[in-house]
Amino acid sequence: MTDTEREIYRRNILLEGVGEEGQRRLLESRVLVVGAGGLGSPALFYLAAAGVGEIAIVDADRVDLSNLQRQILHGRGDVGHPKVDSAGRSLLRLRPDLRLTLHPVRLTEDNAPEILRGFDFVIEATDNFQSKFLVNDTCVRSGTAFSHAGILGMCGQTMTVVPGKGPCYRCVFEDVPPAGAVKTTSEVGVMGSVAGVLGAVQATEAIKHILNLGRLLVGRLLTWDALSMTFREVELPPGRQCPVCCGRT
Ligand SMILES: [Zn+2]
Repeated sequence: MTDTEREIYRRNILLEGVGEEGQRRLLESRVLVVGAGGLGSPALFYLAAAGVGEIAIVDADRVDLSNLQRQILHGRGDVGHPKVDSAGRSLLRLRPDLRLTLHPVRLTEDNAPEILRGFDFVIEATDNFQSKFLVNDTCVRSGTAFSHAGILGMCGQTMTVVPGKGPCYRCVFEDVPPAGAVKTTSEVGVMGSVAGVLGAVQATEAIKHILNLGRLLVGRLLTWDALSMTFREVELPPGRQCPVCCGRT
C-alpha cells in the first residue's frame, strides 16, 4: 500500500477488524453491480470510495431526465448516453486507480454465467423481477454471495444470500409474479433517498463479506418504511429449499 492510499483509507484502517490487512483485501477485491440506477448509484459510490479494487457494472439503459432525482451517478449532461459510461466517469473521478469493467448489455440467461463469473460479491440493484431471479439463480449455481434490494414508494427491503448458508431469493419469493401484480416505481414513484439508504446497505454487506466482518443479512429480510421510519427484520425459514438451491447439492 502506498502512503497516499494509507492516508485515503485511514478511517477504514482505524476500524476494529479492518486494519491495513483488511484494506489490502478490499483493494484486491472484485465486486459486480447489476444496475447503475437508484440502488446501484449509492452502492457503486460507496464501494469505490471504500477501496474495492475492481468493479464491474452491467446496465443496458441510457440516462433519462426522470432518472436524475435518485440515480446520483449521472448528471444533466449525461441524458441520452449509456448509464455505464456516466457511472464509470463518476467513479473514476473519485478513484482514478479503480479497475473498471463496463457491460452495456442486458443480463440474459445466456450471458449471465460468463459476466457474473469470478467476483467476490455481486450486488443485485435491478428494477425488475426477471433480472432479480436471474441474478439469484446464476449466483446460487456458482456459489457467489450477493445482496438483493428492492424499493418502491417510501419503502424498501434487502437481504443477503450466501449460497449454502441460508435461503436464496427464490427460496423466499418463489418466482416472477404475474405481470401487473406488483406496482413499479414508474407507476407509484420512489423517493431518491430511500434508494440511497438501501443501496448503502448493499455496499456495506459487500464490504462486510469481503472483510469477514460482523453478521450478514443471511436468513433475514430487512424491511424499511421511511414514512414511519421503521426498520423490521423478518426471519426467513432456514429449511426451505428451492429447486435452484437443491440443484447445488
Ligand atoms: Zn433457494
